[in-house]
Amino acid sequence: MIRAVFFDMDGVLYDSMPNHEYSWCKAFEDEGIRFSPEEAYANEGRTAKGTINLVFNRELGHGATDEDVERIYKRKTELMHSRPQPPMMPGMQELLTSLPAAGVKVYVVTGSRQPSLVGKLSHAFGIRQETLICGADVQKGKPDPEPYLMALERSGCERGECVVVENAPLGIISGKAAGLTVWAVNTGKLADKILMEAGADRLFHTTRELADEMRKETAR
Ligand code: CA
Repeated sequence: MIRAVFFDMDGVLYDSMPNHEYSWCKAFEDEGIRFSPEEAYANEGRTAKGTINLVFNRELGHGATDEDVERIYKRKTELMHSRPQPPMMPGMQELLTSLPAAGVKVYVVTGSRQPSLVGKLSHAFGIRQETLICGADVQKGKPDPEPYLMALERSGCERGECVVVENAPLGIISGKAAGLTVWAVNTGKLADKILMEAGADRLFHTTRELADEMRKETAR
């Protein structure tokens, strides 16, 4: 029986990953450093510093300095702001606003630190401060289990009553490390195999397919 669902945000609630992909690729290209679109998806959820260091080590054979991190992340952020606001993923607004009526608690668990996050999520998805766990709430972000453990504790539910919804390998690893069931939805550019190897219990190809299945499983 599902009594609580913990939704990731980017690539699950909003089709925001194409903006991240574009901005990461262009920010590295400006530095003359190779970075593939797939890598934007493979590293989704990693801190900017973590991603930049990883790419520096691989491409240049040494880590990034604080100045490198600051410069590239600033450029990436500027590029993000130049992109149009991402649309919601199909079927997710209907799902999140209908689950509470079926007696299911809804939480959003994201590494994002956007200042206007609660306002945005409250308007679109009925999320409140108490049902949002964001980057500022945790010491260690995904792939550490901390964000999902916090959601579990706040929900007051047992592990077996909760489902995590994720699109990214590091998010799936975080949910599994918290001992939770993870439904993955492959909305990005990675092979299904990568999400399954990260530990996904179930895999869907569209948010609509996932929403239909969750409605079935939570129907009373
Ligand atoms: Ca995500």
